[in-house]
Parts: sequence; C-alpha cells; structure tokens
Amino acid sequence: MTGKNDTLLQVEEMKTVFKTRKGNLEAVDGISFSISKGETVAIVGESGSGKSVSALSILRLLDSNGEVTSGKILFNNLNLKDISNEEIRKIRGNEIAMIFQDPMTCLDPVYTIGDQITETIKIHETLSKNELQERALELLRLVGLPDPESRINAYPHQLSGGQRQRVMIAIALACRPSLIIADEPTTALDVTVQAQILQLLKDLQTQFGTAIILVTHDLGVVAEMADKVVVVYAGQVVEQSNVKDLFNKPQHPYTEALMKSIPKIDTSKERKLLTIKGNVPSLIEIPAGCRFHPRCPFAIDKCISEEPPLFELANGRESKCWIADPNLTGNWEGPIFTEENEPVFELNQHLISKKNLMEVTDLKKYFPMTKGILSRTIGHVKAVDGVTLNIHKGEVLGLVGESGCGKSTVGRLITGLIDSTNGEVSFDGKQLSNINRKEKKVLRKRVQFVFQDPYSSLNPRMTILDIIGEPLEVHNLAKGSLKRQRVGELLEIVGLSKNDMHKFPHQFSGGQRQRIGIARALATEPELLICDEAVSALDVSVQAQILNLLKDLQLKLGLSYLFISHDLTVVKYISDRIAVMYLGEIVEVTDSQTLFTEPLHPYSKALISAVPIPNPNIQPDRIILSGEVPSPSNPPSGCKFHTRCPFAMDLCKKEKPELMEITEGHTVACHFYKEVSHI
Ligand code: SF4
Ligand code: SF4
Repeated sequence: MTGKNDTLLQVEEMKTVFKTRKGNLEAVDGISFSISKGETVAIVGESGSGKSVSALSILRLLDSNGEVTSGKILFNNLNLKDISNEEIRKIRGNEIAMIFQDPMTCLDPVYTIGDQITETIKIHETLSKNELQERALELLRLVGLPDPESRINAYPHQLSGGQRQRVMIAIALACRPSLIIADEPTTALDVTVQAQILQLLKDLQTQFGTAIILVTHDLGVVAEMADKVVVVYAGQVVEQSNVKDLFNKPQHPYTEALMKSIPKIDTSKERKLLTIKGNVPSLIEIPAGCRFHPRCPFAIDKCISEEPPLFELANGRESKCWIADPNLTGNWEGPIFTEENEPVFELNQHLISKKNLMEVTDLKKYFPMTKGILSRTIGHVKAVDGVTLNIHKGEVLGLVGESGCGKSTVGRLITGLIDSTNGEVSFDGKQLSNINRKEKKVLRKRVQFVFQDPYSSLNPRMTILDIIGEPLEVHNLAKGSLKRQRVGELLEIVGLSKNDMHKFPHQFSGGQRQRIGIARALATEPELLICDEAVSALDVSVQAQILNLLKDLQLKLGLSYLFISHDLTVVKYISDRIAVMYLGEIVEVTDSQTLFTEPLHPYSKALISAVPIPNPNIQPDRIILSGEVPSPSNPPSGCKFHTRCPFAMDLCKKEKPELMEITEGHTVACHFYKEVSHI
C-alpha cells in the first residue's frame, strides 16, 4: 500500500476549456485525483466524458485552442499548469511519458524506430553514438520486440500494430519516467496482443516501480490493471474508489449502469442488458443540476436543480450523487439497481429449426497482389481459404477471430457483395451459382447487412425516409404514401419515432444511426441478417441498447443472424453457436456455452483466456500467445496456427489438420485436440 507521502501527482480542481466558434467548451470541469509512486490509476468513461482530455491536460498536450484555465497539477512540488514551455518540455518524456492509442499517429513514418528511440534519449541525456544504439536495443529487448537487432532499422510501417505499440512503450521508457500516461493503449489491438501488452506494462511496473495513469473505456482492463479508479462523466469525476470496492459495490448510478450494461462471459442469454437511456451529453448542452439526471432512473427534483458535491464515503471513496448524501439517505450502501430492474428475454430455442437456411462449402476468396505498371500478379492474399459453415433457420451464429482472419470477407461473400474465388453458397436449398439474375435479386431481399460504422454507412445527403425507403423501392415493395407508412413502422420497430423520417443522419447520435441502419436492413423483411461488428463502434451503454434490440427483433421476427465480431463476450451473449476463424479458416465450431467451458482448439482456448474479466477478484489463468497473426499472403505451412501454438509438434508444420466432428455439433481442426483438451 502506498502512503500519502508517496504521492507523485496531485490534480486539484483542474478545468480545461476549448475555444470554439460555438463558444467556450468546458471539456474538463474541476477534476481532482492523485496517484502515488508505483500505483495504477484508471480514468474510465465513455467517449466525450473528458477522460482523454484530462490526461492530455496534465502534460499540456492540448490542441492550440485548448487550455487548462484553473486548478493545480502538482508534480514533484511543481505546478505543471504554470511552468514555462521549456520546463514542461523537459518533464515530457523524461519524468512523465505518454503512450497513445494509435502508435502510427505518434511514430514518424520517415525515421527508423531506432532513430526515434535515440532521439528521445538525446533530448534528456548526453551519450555517445554507440551508447545510444546499445540503449535503444536494450529498450527494444525489454519490451519484447522480436529480433530487435534487425528491427531497430525498420520503419514504423514495416511493423505490426502490436509491435508498434511495443516501440511506443520503449520510447516512453527511454528516460525511465516515474509516471506513464497511457491513453487507450490496447484499444486498437487484437485481444491476444492486448493480453501481451497489458502483461508487459505490469512487468515493467514491477521492475521499475513506474506509476501508470490508464485512460480506458474497457472495464475488464480496469479490473485487471488498476489500483484506483476515477469514473468521469460529462467532464466531471462522478465516483472515485479503490478497484475492489468499486467493482463489488459501485456507489454512483452511472458506474453501476456501466458495469451492468456490458455482457460478461457468465451473463445469461435470458438477461436483458441494463441500458442507460440517451447518450453522453454534448459539451454545448450540459444539463443543469446533476449532469447525469436526464439519463438517471433515480433522479429526484433536487437532481434537476442542484449539482451534487463529491460526497466522501468510507474507505476513501467518493460519489457525486445525492443518493450518497448522508442527510438524505442515511447510511446508504447501494447497490442502486436491483434484479427487478433487469427484465429477461425468453430463449429462442423454439425458433431454431434443423433445416439449414444458409450453407457455405469450401468457400475461398483470394485477392490478387499486383506489382508494376502492368499490374502483374505476384501472389494472393488468401483472405478466406476453404470455409465450410451452416446457419440454421432461427439461429444466431457467431463468427469470431482477430483482425485479418477473414470473418468480414465471409459476410460479404455470403451477401454477394463480393464474388468468391471458389466454393459454393446455398440459401434455402438453392445454390447461388445456379440461379439467374432475377432470383439473385429476390435472394438479396432475403439476406441483409448491418454495417459496423453507423457514421459512414448512411448517406449524409439523404433523409431517413430516403435511406430506409430505398430498398423498398429497389425491390418494388412500396412507393409513395405506402413507403412513408412502412418507413414509419420500421422506425418504431427499432425504437425511433416516425416523426424522425424527415431528418438527416447528422441529426442522430451513434446509437440512433445504428438503429436506422437496422431499420433499413429490415425493410425487405429479410430472413438472415449479417451483422458485421454491428456494435463495435458504440459506447458500452449504447451498445447494450442495440444488443437488446437485436435480440428482441430476432425473437419477434424469427430472424437468423450471422453475428461477426472480435468481442467474445458480446458474441457469447447473443449467439447460439460460434465459429472461430484463424487466417482464413474455421478452426472450431460448437454451441456458445461449450466453446467457453470446453474449448478444444488451442487458439479458441487462448482467445477466451485473453478476454479481460471485469472482476478484480479474479486473476485470469491466461495463455499468452507469442507474436501476431501472420500475413494471409504467406500463411504458415501445415496447421496455420503452428507458429503461435504453444502445443505445436513437428506434424503440425507438415500436415494441415482437417475440421473433424468430435461430438455432435462440435467440430475442431487440430491434430492434438485430445491432448490439448486436458490442459
Ligand atoms: S444525483 Fe440524482 S440524477 Fe445524479 S446520479 Fe444521483 S440520483 Fe441520479
Ligand atoms: S494442429 Fe498443432 S499447431 Fe495446430 S492447433 Fe493443433 S497442436 Fe496447435
């Protein structure tokens, strides 16, 4: 435990203001927290909460229109707010370093990574050329970059995402800072690489006693990494606590709602996710009183008119909520939401028929790689390499895997958005290759797509009536007043109002736009929806709304889904069966429960073990995979997973394992699944 004298950084009543054409925006409004030596403090919140701006304010790394206008940022008895630019530059990188979400935006593409590390050291220390080179190598070894002797001369674009993040950490460590500020350091990484980077940060912290401010939206990462948590909402701290107490008994409605809105590995399929109505308010329209009151189910009159202070609670905790006021509620202990607040879904088993709605056999998609002005083909990216799958009527099939595994390409091939190189797709017993254009058009009506990004998938110049009405017209389903009536119905089905149909996409929030995307997909009354990362771009509270909606629609309309996602807990919550993909191939298929309790493929095991668990009392027993997914243009021989598999034997390098049915409905592609299943 660290004592008060160990305090390294003390932020007091910090305010950060951005000057804009719409006036001054208070992105951070009086935030206070402290961090001690060797401690990890997580700043948690949804997008627009002010968590990243708070972190950037500490080092005065704000855009030119932003400024810390009041408060104190005390670091080693210096107020970083008031020191000169020269002084803060000396502290940056030397005593406080920063790691960003996307290393590509911070690494200079024209310099080798070795040069970028040595440049950082040179700013703060005088060393000879050889000493600099040796120090850079030492740092690259420390952060586990494979083959550092040759990689030191590589340019950022020659490294993978995980390797670039390791380089960023090496640069951050270059001058042995006492504090690292890590802003969403693993958000852009795949889950197995995230596990490597989190482990690396923990190891480095143990080795050097570095304090870490971790800015994140991921409660699983918080539970695993943090000692203390600061929850921010609309620019203010709403709760502050040690990590265990926070997860055991959150003391603010927003914190508890956040925790209950994310599906966990053990969340029952029947449980409706808790949703927070509405969205994080825009800084232009900050609500009066408690800023959370328009979304809070417990708001009383006082919440609308009077802003609550941060009440001090037992164990050094704080909550900015009138419920925590001892004069109002006595010795209130929470939790705030009760089981009765959480309605349930019926299960969808009665909807699932034995009949296949969609069948995919040996599907392949090879993208040619070309070179020169004659565009000579020099190889192929084997994005999908022999996928065989089926989706039953009324079933939700989850498709998981890390980026580049080919899962989205499978979705596009099934809907006919792109043509396959080889293989067959059948829908309702009809082979797509044997049907004419007219029949293909009918088929398009029956299979629809929900895209990931609700911002770019809707044409900004079209009204919602035109966007949702377009497929109705294309398929001759409705025109004129009938179209308007149908669009109104569809908007209401997805939880919007029919009065919204004359608005444009920019007038809606991210979650509302995703509802519009779903309404458009439903316009043709499809039987199968391909949902490609349909909730990945949304904040967790909004994600819960959309997941509940998708489950609701599936039950009401008897739809089938192919639910493609990198998020295993989301997939487990919504899917009946799950297929796991690696480098263009299916490696395991089984029902969603069995996949999580008895996975047979080493990759499935590693994927599941890498998921951060939002419970600080559980220390996950993790299988840390080495390296990253190899390039699909030059996949490994034999079993494509052998370069990363902790159980690989000689046979794995030579012979490709076929997908075999082990028990009814459970297929796996691994030579040694029996041996692995006991580990
Ligand atoms: S102060 Fe009122 S509105 Fe704000 S979180 Fe507490 S109960 Fe809800
Ligand atoms: S076949 Fe070999 S390399 Fe592939 S997953 Fe099984 S044990 Fe690992």
